[in-house]
Amino acid sequence: MNLFEMSQIPMKAAIKAMKLDPSAAAIIENPERTLEVSIPVKMDDGTVKVFIGYRSQHSTVMGPAKGGVRYHPNVCLDEVKTLAMWMTTKCAIAGLPYGGGKGGIIVDPAKLSRGELERLTRGWIDKVAPIIGEKKDIPAPDMNTNAQIMGWMMDEYSKITGQFEPGFITGKAICVGGSLGRTAATGRGVMTAAMEALKVKKINPKKATCAVQGFGNVGSWTAKLIHDQGVTIVAISDVYGAIYSDKGIDPYELAKHVAKTGSVTKFKGTKAISNEELLEAKVDLLCPCAMEGQITGANAAKLNAKVICEGANGPTTPDADAILDKKGIFVVPDILANGGGVTVSYFEWVQNLYRYFWTEEEVIDKQVALMRKAFKEVYDASKEYKVDMRVGAYISAIGRINEAMKIRGMYDPK
Ligand code: NAD
Repeated sequence: MNLFEMSQIPMKAAIKAMKLDPSAAAIIENPERTLEVSIPVKMDDGTVKVFIGYRSQHSTVMGPAKGGVRYHPNVCLDEVKTLAMWMTTKCAIAGLPYGGGKGGIIVDPAKLSRGELERLTRGWIDKVAPIIGEKKDIPAPDMNTNAQIMGWMMDEYSKITGQFEPGFITGKAICVGGSLGRTAATGRGVMTAAMEALKVKKINPKKATCAVQGFGNVGSWTAKLIHDQGVTIVAISDVYGAIYSDKGIDPYELAKHVAKTGSVTKFKGTKAISNEELLEAKVDLLCPCAMEGQITGANAAKLNAKVICEGANGPTTPDADAILDKKGIFVVPDILANGGGVTVSYFEWVQNLYRYFWTEEEVIDKQVALMRKAFKEVYDASKEYKVDMRVGAYISAIGRINEAMKIRGMYDPK
């Protein structure tokens, strides 16, 4: 099952549970606009290579489209369209005044020189410029794109419009309008959602144990901030292997070890375990923060966590969801749990629009308040409609978008 097919299952379950008007469902199920572009790039050897890029705007019902741009050899139209739809739901759940979008370029950036990468990036902006802008569609970093690439994009777009354009893009360096608090934002959101879930399950964080899969941006910040709440982190993994200690792993010390050695493996005081053993560990909380498709129909029955809080996008397949539900495992879905990144991107945009910047403390306070509110709304929807948290999250999102579609006259409700 590809990402698009996977994403349709909870969405259709939500549409059915809330008895959504078929006209509204038809609008929501399709992206508003998708653009495919070809980008000719002058390579360092004097030849021209043409790259294919995309921008999909799933929805602008609640506000400008919002979502990252990924550079990857396997990017395809279906993936970009699905991720754009996830962004619509993620923004609606968090209550942000945005729709959803996503972009991509089919490229392995590691094979380009810095100059080629910059020319490719500027070329993508030149081609998608007519449909983006601070009130139309606001890109951001995603897989293999970063603050430098956002800087080139901002510069190119500013040249096209003839004015300083910090608000058309987020994930920028602080010196050109980036926000404090963005680096840890997704992990902080995962931690906040996880703490709310522990409350629901009446588990005391100070007595709880946790396993974190992945120790990149999301996983490392999730582990650090959950550790700060008094939870004992007993297992952590990365692509090279997993480590375990029932005495607890200090993620701050582990980050220093990773900076030195490049991997979490062989960290002092821990034993090596397999990735499967990490997922199956007897813990209160499991945070998959690495990549999609990790909890599947093949391993879900073996999981022992009481709560799963999804930092990665799409770590659980729909067949696994059904098994976890039967086992009584409380799953906080990705579109709720990892919405912290886009929430602080929204704060960056707000600060750019009024050219006034907040302290990191202000950013964190506002982020945590929004995440807690979103969690409560999703939890309440899941109780009201007697569905799991994933379907509850779609109900919460679609409910908001539907109200906006009605009031905008996009269909006539029966
Ligand atoms: P990253 O590249 O910084 O880190 C990924 C981590 O996962 C690395 O530690 C890597 O070694 C590890 N990993 C990869 N394959 C693994 C495997 N098979 N088993 C165990 N570990 C493995 O990426 P990131 O930015 O932390 O993103 C992680 C996930 O979170 C992705 O699904 C991404 O789409 C999602 N996400 C990220 C953000 C963000 O702000 N960075 C926001 C929302 C969602």
